[in-house]
Amino acid sequence: MSNNPPAKRLRSSGPLVNHRPPVECIEEGDSADEDDLEPDAGNDHESDFSDGELDVSYEPHVTTRSSSASDSAPGVSSSSGNVRTASKSCDVNTVAGNFVLSLHEKCFVSQSDRKEVLDDAKLLVKEGIKKFAEKVDSALKSQGSKVRLNDILNVEKYASSTCYDTFKNLETKSQQAKFFKDTIGVTDVKRIPLGKVLLRGRKGGVTKTKVIDQELIYVPLEETVDKMINHPDYKFFVENTQSGTCNSEYLDCYMKGSLAKENKILREHPDALRFILYYDDVEVLSPLKSRAGKQKVGAFYIFLDNIPLQYRSCLKVICLLGLVNANLIKGKYYGMDAALEAIVDILKKFEDGIQLPSGTKVYGTLIAVIGDNLGQHCMGGFKEGFTATRCCRICMARFESEIKTMTKEDEKLLRTKEDYRQQIDKIQTSRGKNEKFSTEYGLNRESCLNKLDTFHVLENFPYDGMHCLLEGALSLAVKKVLKHYLYDVKEKPFTLDWLNQAILSFDFDYSETRDKASELKEDFIKDDSVSLHQSAAQLWLLATILPLILSPLIDCEDVHWTNYLDMLEICRIVFTVKIPLWLVTYLQDLIDGYLSKFISLYGNLIPKQHFLIHFPSQILKFGSLMNYMCLRCEANHKYYKRLISVLTAYRNIPLFLARRDQLHQAYLWKKTMRHESTCGPHKSVRLEFAYYGNLVQAPGNELVESSWLDLNGVKFKPEHCYVVVGLKDYLPVFAFVKTIIVHPQVAFVCQDVKTVGRNLHAGCFIVPLTNGISVHRPEDMLVHSVFHAHSFGNYSAIVSKSCLGGQP
Ligand SMILES: [Zn+2]
Repeated sequence: MSNNPPAKRLRSSGPLVNHRPPVECIEEGDSADEDDLEPDAGNDHESDFSDGELDVSYEPHVTTRSSSASDSAPGVSSSSGNVRTASKSCDVNTVAGNFVLSLHEKCFVSQSDRKEVLDDAKLLVKEGIKKFAEKVDSALKSQGSKVRLNDILNVEKYASSTCYDTFKNLETKSQQAKFFKDTIGVTDVKRIPLGKVLLRGRKGGVTKTKVIDQELIYVPLEETVDKMINHPDYKFFVENTQSGTCNSEYLDCYMKGSLAKENKILREHPDALRFILYYDDVEVLSPLKSRAGKQKVGAFYIFLDNIPLQYRSCLKVICLLGLVNANLIKGKYYGMDAALEAIVDILKKFEDGIQLPSGTKVYGTLIAVIGDNLGQHCMGGFKEGFTATRCCRICMARFESEIKTMTKEDEKLLRTKEDYRQQIDKIQTSRGKNEKFSTEYGLNRESCLNKLDTFHVLENFPYDGMHCLLEGALSLAVKKVLKHYLYDVKEKPFTLDWLNQAILSFDFDYSETRDKASELKEDFIKDDSVSLHQSAAQLWLLATILPLILSPLIDCEDVHWTNYLDMLEICRIVFTVKIPLWLVTYLQDLIDGYLSKFISLYGNLIPKQHFLIHFPSQILKFGSLMNYMCLRCEANHKYYKRLISVLTAYRNIPLFLARRDQLHQAYLWKKTMRHESTCGPHKSVRLEFAYYGNLVQAPGNELVESSWLDLNGVKFKPEHCYVVVGLKDYLPVFAFVKTIIVHPQVAFVCQDVKTVGRNLHAGCFIVPLTNGISVHRPEDMLVHSVFHAHSFGNYSAIVSKSCLGGQP
């Protein structure tokens, strides 16, 4: 960032003073990793800011990373309310339970190791008591008393009994399971039989036969929902949905789409629960392990659309519904419906109104099933694979003809419920010809999901932006445009080595480095049948920064380049939450133009490009497709993979994972369902010495600045990020964050930025800084996100992955 002012040094944590906030600082520069932002296990620090001096009124769950360095620092008065509030007095057995839970969920300690740690902890408690007794005796002696503690109680016996009481009912695996069920409400999973299989094996020269149960491990939905809607944070979520998120001008949520208006349960019960079901296969073992592939787990998750999108990105609200060996529900075994039946049964009860264990009666409706295309087709009973004659679940376009050439949705080709009924009947009744009809219609079977009153497979399977765009159309667009400039043109504007070097030396900032692209290889670019070997997030970032790198080198009026920029514009619109109605019409024309030009430049379309033509009508039905993105959901699998790799549990993996998942969820919900916001090293500042002192007010003329702040999953860092604070002349108004205040309220002191315009060839905003200083609150931000400026010639430029303020 060439024209950014020099970074202001943050004062390192010095001696504590009375007005120091009730927190300790972590070492500066020791905070970049997202994992580091997780709250400390077993530390009830979430009360630190709200109970103590740091009253962050915007977000009551701001917590700080703590070290032990200044825990007992001198000069801190506990009566002033400036120090950490004392731990709430609670039963020592509960404290020990929390300790064991942390061993489980924070440290992934195995059962055998846990026993050893507990033995050490018992010894610690016992020796601690004995040491304390010695201290008391010595104090009594120094006071001239002849009484000794042992005269009053048997210290050895007392230490032993306290030790026993502390770890009572926490000794064995089953005792711990019961303890956690009773104290934090861990849900018992159910084992739903799918069938049995006979296994033959030889042991000691004798052939033995063993019957193995094959089952779906199911987490009772009514219990999950009961715990969720009775959680204090749920009320906060719902209130936020009603007040802010659903703005009437935009198609920003499901309730704005046409499907919500047609849903009879939502018409009769507007506050009914809106379920989104997500399915994915998880390879829990490393591909190198001998059992890999055989132990692929099919995972069903469910979450509520009632929770606003900004809180739904937190993994805590994505709940496990079922786990099954993926091989059992695919192909020759029991089929997907065998697992879906149990899920449909419970969802049907929600449609009719269900009494939850707590006595509350609620209604619910399944509004969408999301996943990758194969998973969605498998659940919906469509032909799997993109080479099927009819590979689109929205229309009847043929793979060999229309799919490759259509550039806009054709109403005559759309699948209808009436046709679908006839097609399914034909497949089910025509003996010997069912495979012919199945191929002809692109249908395998009627999914049991259709048993639900408010669900139909033709309507409630939205296309996923991550799989169709990032891993599909956008990935292809990047390949094609690079191939064109690298290998197809006579005078090559750059080489692949140069491009890889340019990406390597690009000025990525802190929120981008994780998604920095891997090296681009010639084979991957030239071969249409392989991917670019980048993750969806890497591809997304690479695609948006390519114009900054390449636009100075090429003729920006070149049709290959403008075609690529059109693709980026399509992505920005699709990945926007606040989409105004007119933008959907614009998107339709944009997609039509883009695909037509693509065909003329590169030839036939692939199925994932065809799916694009249905995006505008899907946005009209569902609201912004950002609400149904799989990108965040897939992060849930990390927990399972880590668990299996650490504990190396291979026997009945679905059962093991489901039980651990329930323990993990109870552990997380014990604290909060929200993303716990955190801040880094900080310092107290007197208002009269602050350069922005005339712009803010603070009781006692003191406030606290922090070196970084993680708010609802977005990390803000002074001198490194921009925020969008408004719109002017259809352009976003950026502000450069100079200082972050975390007390008495969260606020960003920013250097004003003048958005002088948008460079259409590079798809970026040019943003020189000005001398003005202003203060902005988190709720002033147009989007809850950070942006970074990058060098672009003599300018600083910002690229955005979505439309800012609804403008393409
Ligand atoms: Zn189609």
